[in-house]
Amino acid sequence: MHELRKTEALIDGVWCALDRRFAVTNPATEDVIAQVSDCGVAETEQAIDAAQRAWPAWSALSSLARSDVLWRWYELVVANQSALAQLLTQEQGKPLAEALGEVLYGASYIRWFAEEARRLDGDVLSLPQSDRRGLVIRQSLGVVAAITPWNFPIAMFARKVAPALAAGCTVVLKPAAETPLSALAVAELALRAGVPKGVFNVVTGTDAPAIGQAMTSHPAVKKLTFTGSTKVGRLLLRQCADAIKRTSMELGGNAPLLVFEDADVDLAVAGTMAAKFRNAGQTCICANRILVHEAIYPRFLQALTRAVDALQQGAGEQEGVTIGPMISAAAVQTTHERVAEAVTQGAIVHRGGFVSPLGESFYPPTILLHVQPSMRVWREELFAPVLPIMTFTTDEQAIALANDTEAGLAAYVFTESRHRCWQVSEALQFGMVGVNETAISSEVIPFGGIKASGSGREGSKYGLADYTELKYICMGGLS
Ligand code: ADP
Repeated sequence: MHELRKTEALIDGVWCALDRRFAVTNPATEDVIAQVSDCGVAETEQAIDAAQRAWPAWSALSSLARSDVLWRWYELVVANQSALAQLLTQEQGKPLAEALGEVLYGASYIRWFAEEARRLDGDVLSLPQSDRRGLVIRQSLGVVAAITPWNFPIAMFARKVAPALAAGCTVVLKPAAETPLSALAVAELALRAGVPKGVFNVVTGTDAPAIGQAMTSHPAVKKLTFTGSTKVGRLLLRQCADAIKRTSMELGGNAPLLVFEDADVDLAVAGTMAAKFRNAGQTCICANRILVHEAIYPRFLQALTRAVDALQQGAGEQEGVTIGPMISAAAVQTTHERVAEAVTQGAIVHRGGFVSPLGESFYPPTILLHVQPSMRVWREELFAPVLPIMTFTTDEQAIALANDTEAGLAAYVFTESRHRCWQVSEALQFGMVGVNETAISSEVIPFGGIKASGSGREGSKYGLADYTELKYICMGGLS
């Protein structure tokens, strides 16, 4: 465990200790658990230069050789799952069982792209002219910059770094300053797996705008892949525009969850609980707006209330805890302000809605009734364990309310009608739709959104293409 606890930046295969440090805290206890190197522009540029130097040799390796390195990395992550999960819970707060789930979920992307690395195939085209042939090959982009958030510190970076390395790119990653330790630990395992120096660099730091600027202004960086807020995504897209850098943006969601009158109530409640309270409501595909048909509402609310009352909140390390703290006291404050504002506008607090006695970073599971579409708790992504509920009477009304958002990441539908499954799934303007299921993600599926939720897809057979350029070669003189 201790040897995986790294607190330095990883640049050109070397752990770089800086005098400038920043504190990482355990959100459940507010204890400082590490002091980490606080990198700025100079270190980011060094890392990009190292990645640029490492790129020719890494991209020239056979895809089999790159795949083998990724396989070893995957095996090491799995072998160290328990130590990684503990580190993750300490810095992020989620219950240990969820942390373990995230480690294995992250590992599944490394494994998937170890497999996909071997399928970087192209095409042979039959051209209109008989004396020539067309070839299409896929080539790696070069240096990829990756910026990741604190809610899934391991999974979010595995989803980016694994396909980038599989494609033959080299990477400079900036993890969120709240949760750098698990990323550094997985980076240490990458070194042990044989990822050559400079191929994967990790720049830890608190001055995110400066690091982001250094990444987007460096000519060697060919692509930026970002997971985080829509606000920062917009800013980074603008920064990438001048040099026309490739981007993948996995931005905020505002997922609706629709419960129709013919839904299986138990299934809908179980799905709502999983989609809302996992990671204390801090996931981009969390159900953010619950729409329930009037006819089923009393039964749904009764069963949901029972399930919410059964949640056990506490520090993630504690036995039996099913919901941890939020990431910080500031996040709790913002959440409470939004809930209080909704109440002044007519919402009713059915459960929760107070600052928890467990500590400043805890917010209780909260159910809000009588919510209106104009309220911020409905319009904006909450990223909190708060469930706003509205009722509807017709399918058209439910679909219109669900689509009335700039976000387009995930949506969920509960119905027993085959017809409605299709009709509603196709009408929802979201990149991913879960029908009678909210645990929709895995390495096999194309994860990503439309509208203001971003562009690009992570995982699946489409995920590798985001890290390659297509090149057409015309071979003539064949007559
Ligand atoms: P969240 O609300 O989840 O923290 P952010 O978009 O603020 O979402 O953060 C996601 C990631 O983006 C983090 O690694 C954060 O440090 C980084 N970040 C925040 N602001 C900027 C910026 N101006 N430029 C580059 N990265 C940034």
